[in-house]
Amino acid sequence: MTILYAAEAEEAAQWTDSLRALDPSLEIRFWPDWGDPATIDFVVVGGRSPGDLSIFPKLRAIQSTWAGVNHLLRSPGLPSGVPIARMVDRGLTGSMTEFVVYQVLDEWRRGPDLRAAQRDGRWLETMPRLAGDCRVGILGLGTLGTDIAEKLSGLGFSLRGWSRSAKEAPRGVTLFAGAESLPAFLNGLDILICILPLTAETENILGRSLFDHLPDGSVLINVGRGAQLNEADLLAALESGRIRRAILDVFREEPLPSEHPFWRHPKVTITPHVAAITRAGTGADDILENYRRAMTGRPLLNQVDVQKGY
Ligand code: NAP
Repeated sequence: MTILYAAEAEEAAQWTDSLRALDPSLEIRFWPDWGDPATIDFVVVGGRSPGDLSIFPKLRAIQSTWAGVNHLLRSPGLPSGVPIARMVDRGLTGSMTEFVVYQVLDEWRRGPDLRAAQRDGRWLETMPRLAGDCRVGILGLGTLGTDIAEKLSGLGFSLRGWSRSAKEAPRGVTLFAGAESLPAFLNGLDILICILPLTAETENILGRSLFDHLPDGSVLINVGRGAQLNEADLLAALESGRIRRAILDVFREEPLPSEHPFWRHPKVTITPHVAAITRAGTGADDILENYRRAMTGRPLLNQVDVQKGY
């Protein structure tokens, strides 16, 4: 009964310490020293594409330490029929919500304008804006989007959420479901947050045809995945004023190349994919639970629907 850690040594070390603290009897190996491939039952993968997992003939499950599994689903040699679990972790969720709430509050209370005014020695006296006057839309009302919506709604913001399927929305949040509802969801938003998984349907979703439904002067926060953003369309929307400011945590190419125009764009705020990171201290419990479930043939927690891509 062996777990294989397919991640970089530093990342693997913190997870295996947490797993061994929970169960010292665990047999854990590290990529690429897996020994006999037939002894590997369970593979844990991090943020990079793992190697060819089809070489493990008795693999029972694959566990991602990341919430997004787009890189894993696209990796070559992914064995079909082996269940995959993504990470849902209270540390990750809390960290994402804190990041987004901080960006929304900073924007709505004119943080960038006030900092610019201070740099110029200007006394910028403006009427403080109230949360209730700000319409915020969240693309993706899953684990992370729902927590963000609940916290922002609790502060008084006017919340809309967009998901693929109809479901009960958190109190105070208006739900829009399906592609046909997207224009109505976008209409009149002050701030648009993207926290969607990257799939064939969501790739390039943040592009001109979506921006055309936003009012002039709206703000974009992308904490989903970089490939959801059409970068040329964003630059055009910033130029035209359709989008007033973009806060980007994720990029098509990470690290963002030093010559990329986003770095020095006055209307773009860049954070280096740090909105939320899974913590071994809070995430290891679920990995161990999924390992035990896999070994006893039970359904995994947070199992990925491979057809849907998330
Ligand atoms: P989740 O629980 O699976 O939720 C995904 C949400 O997106 C669901 O509401 C789903 O709709 C919706 N969705 C998916 N495809 C859609 C489509 N085509 N049209 C409309 N809605 C669609 O995922 P999560 O845990 O919240 O994580 C979301 C993503 O956040 C991850 O996949 C990852 O890319 C990103 N992330 C970023 C960071 C960072 O540091 N920047 C950290 C963690 C995660 P249904 O509810 O109908 O299924």
